[in-house]
Amino acid sequence: MNLQTSLSEVDRILKMYARRLEHLGIVTVEDLLFYIPFRYDDYRVLSKIQMLQPGEVVTVQGKVLEIKNQYTRSRKTIQKAILVDDTGEIELTWFNQPFLTRVINPNDILAVSGRVEKRNQTLSMLSPEYEVVRSESGTLHTGRLVPVYSETKGITSKWIRRQVHKVLEMYATDIDEYLPEEIIAKHRFLSLQQAIRTIHFPKTLDEVAAARKRIAFDELFLLQLKAVQRKETWKKNTVGIPFVLTSYQTKLEKFIDSLPFTLTSAQQKAVDAITQDLTKKEPMNRLLQGDVGSGKTVVSTIAMYLSYLNGYQSVLMAPTEILAQQHYTTISKLLTQFGVKVDLVTGSIKYLVSGIKKKKENIQNTKYQIQDTHVLVGTHAVLSEKIIFDKLGLVVIDEQQRFGVEQRSIIREKGKNPHLLTMTATPIPRTVALTMYGDLDLSYLDEMPKGRQMIKTWLVPQEKRDSAYVWIRKQVKETDSQIFIICPFIEESESMQTVKAATKEFERLAKDIFPDLKLGMLHGRLKGKEKDAILDKFRQKEFDILVATPVVEVGIDITNATVMVIEAAERFGLAQLHQLRGRVGRGDKQSYCLLFTETPSDQVLKRLKAMESMHVGAELAELDLKLRGPGDVFGTMQHGLPKLKVASFSDVSLIEKAKNTADILYPKLEKYPKLKEKLAEIAVKKVSPD
Ligand code: ADP
Ligand code: MG
Repeated sequence: MNLQTSLSEVDRILKMYARRLEHLGIVTVEDLLFYIPFRYDDYRVLSKIQMLQPGEVVTVQGKVLEIKNQYTRSRKTIQKAILVDDTGEIELTWFNQPFLTRVINPNDILAVSGRVEKRNQTLSMLSPEYEVVRSESGTLHTGRLVPVYSETKGITSKWIRRQVHKVLEMYATDIDEYLPEEIIAKHRFLSLQQAIRTIHFPKTLDEVAAARKRIAFDELFLLQLKAVQRKETWKKNTVGIPFVLTSYQTKLEKFIDSLPFTLTSAQQKAVDAITQDLTKKEPMNRLLQGDVGSGKTVVSTIAMYLSYLNGYQSVLMAPTEILAQQHYTTISKLLTQFGVKVDLVTGSIKYLVSGIKKKKENIQNTKYQIQDTHVLVGTHAVLSEKIIFDKLGLVVIDEQQRFGVEQRSIIREKGKNPHLLTMTATPIPRTVALTMYGDLDLSYLDEMPKGRQMIKTWLVPQEKRDSAYVWIRKQVKETDSQIFIICPFIEESESMQTVKAATKEFERLAKDIFPDLKLGMLHGRLKGKEKDAILDKFRQKEFDILVATPVVEVGIDITNATVMVIEAAERFGLAQLHQLRGRVGRGDKQSYCLLFTETPSDQVLKRLKAMESMHVGAELAELDLKLRGPGDVFGTMQHGLPKLKVASFSDVSLIEKAKNTADILYPKLEKYPKLKEKLAEIAVKKVSPD
């Protein structure tokens, strides 16, 4: 017997229900034991009938005086019973459960849990939980903290409870402890067996918390351990290209000195981590995260320069043509003076060699043996099989989440295990990044370059709306600013409903609020060309105000737009608000973000208020996670997060503990055979999106 035993081998009942259990993902004994209740009904308060007060939730135990079925006119049934103890009697009522008269008989000792009601001097309970008490061993469904499980068709929570109880009796002692004793002691964890017993049938809510903590830890820890294993295995089996750093240190410093600014300390830290990675014999695999404008490009440029100094080529891949172009300009400006040849390849410019556009006539058959180029910047076009590198040492991927796994691996295969630096401006809380990208190394640019303007942000409650409109008009008329107004977030997709709502808002603004200003409107249902035309008009200042739906990606750079107004801000996540806000503040003028809200909820207002003082995306995302939970924060993101059953992405300290423990234990795995076995058992399951 062990936990991997299939439930259908346990007994006849479980065999009969096997198919239904499968719908809940329960096949083995282990699956059932790890099927965690999502809440508990507190039926611990046992009361004598005489003491009952209307409204309280209690458990009463007594003798059944009578039980009968009654038929209603609508051919429904009602079950009525009278329960007595030595102090009084209470009426019990259920609906449409005719089988009850077979399950419960007069003279049975019955425990019932539920809310007490009193009508016409008669005490009663409607649809109470019930349980015929047969032994001294106590009750399962009443008179205690009763676990409640998610149900499926044909399986009730009550049924699951009974099965879990039975299977626990049979198998609990087979639950093997695989965590080393010292870890359990250090964190004062329950043993796994204790935790599983307790999570199903706890005596107190404190016990539940302790059990959940242990089970959540295991969940996170095993994820982390698997990630460490993948990372270490990959390191061991992959021979990369160790760059030399020491002999080029001076040159690197000279380059950094040549920059028109000093690096922020966050940038410096990232550069140090990256250059260290590059000297190692295994390829770097690092994610650089930082808000728009935090200066990721220059960090990657330093890495590419070191690659060049070592005689290797680099490639930088960006998701759009405009971005690729922008990078090409920036990087050429920085590196050309140091002898580095930078080139650009995009879909429309086939191949640009050091500023000279080369349009090959016979593009179909041309292969570009990239030899003279040191740094190739491009879009997806760099993935083309026509592009062959001579000696690719470093791959940089900007906005990595915009590329698929496939594309990321194609580009790496253009060299022999080149180093990889991925970059993203998507605000992911650190804890989530640790779990999601357990096998990557992470660097954060959590500090903006000096002198960067802070976008002044105000929460505008309903009563200040009118004065906000007056202020907006003043901005347009007196400072010649342009304004974005983002319509309320209605749903994920740009459905007709979203467009309709936006159109209505646009009409209201144009007619009632700003009849004297010029307004344009942008939504995701427009064709690419139409969008571009509207954005162009906005850029040419043909509109003062651009009303847009939230899903629309508002142009890259409209430097004259200095005010971002967001309607119904409470419907957005903080990270989302932060990204929308980032669309202003591109020029020198002071920029502003106005968050309109009509919510009366203090809690929501407090959450939104954080936007006024916090300006780092990852931190806002982290706060949001704490306040709203992962469902809301990630519901709208396609992140391929691992599913957590008990643990939560918002539990920062437990995630960190799990990560540290995995890092400490993995190298010593030989000392812990049970843990090693556990890891082997789970290693086949998938961890992170890659
Ligand atoms: P992102 O992280 O969004 O890719 P960029 O790399 O495009 O940011 O940098 C944004 C701007 O900030 C660029 O114009 C860049 O030259 C400038 N910049 C980068 N680092 C610094 C710094 N340490 N001090 C001042 N300006 C900087
Ligand atoms: Mg960038």
